Amino acid sequence: MTFAPLGLAPAILQAVEAAGYTEPTPVQARAIPAALEGHDLMVSSSTGSGKTASFVLPALERILAARGDNTKRRAKGVVHGPRILVLAPTRELAIQVSRSCITYGRHVQGLRVATVVGGVPYGAQLKALRGPLDVLIATPGRLLDHLGTGAAVLDHVEMLVLDEADRMLDMGFIDDITAIAEALPEQRQTVMYSATFAGHVGGLAQRLTREPQRIDV
Ligand code: AMP
Repeated sequence: MTFAPLGLAPAILQAVEAAGYTEPTPVQARAIPAALEGHDLMVSSSTGSGKTASFVLPALERILAARGDNTKRRAKGVVHGPRILVLAPTRELAIQVSRSCITYGRHVQGLRVATVVGGVPYGAQLKALRGPLDVLIATPGRLLDHLGTGAAVLDHVEMLVLDEADRMLDMGFIDDITAIAEALPEQRQTVMYSATFAGHVGGLAQRLTREPQRIDV
């Protein structure tokens, strides 16, 4: 199987081809079409499975689909926050996700990606949050700080991704994630990735997702 039947736009397929991928990994083959259909997802798949592209590619597809709308909003002078929000447990993982966005989004014109993580100065992050944004990738604690000050605006998030949700809960981010989710529109797509959906992470999935599809690879 190739990437062609998955329903991705030519601009995204070109970037996938340039990355040297000839066929989707099992998690990509199942999660990409389901995400493009707009379903909420609970995905169990490990690091190294190609899970990052399985949410980044559908996320970029949303950005492409929204381009006309963005032009209209900018003409009205409305600056808005990101359409895609990715929460990740660590600075390293967040940076890896943002690199993937840039790699796979190389043909998405004017793509704006910001990364907001703890342990680094606020200045550059504040500047990135002030401008128009497509994708925001964040660790929960630092994003909550920016929400508290009003620097982060999450009113236009259409898709929430929780990467390695079990690790985020192990690190004690449950309250931060809950507070961030409360700042998002109810009408949105939520996709969760976790090694397990047992225990607290299952409870979180129940609160954040609607009629999720389970993908276990
Ligand atoms: P991840 O599980 O998202 O951390 O990805 C693991 C590695 O697999 C990364 O280095 C990706 O560049 C690579 N990768 C992702 N999708 C594919 C694919 N369809 N074919 C070959 N390599 C891939």
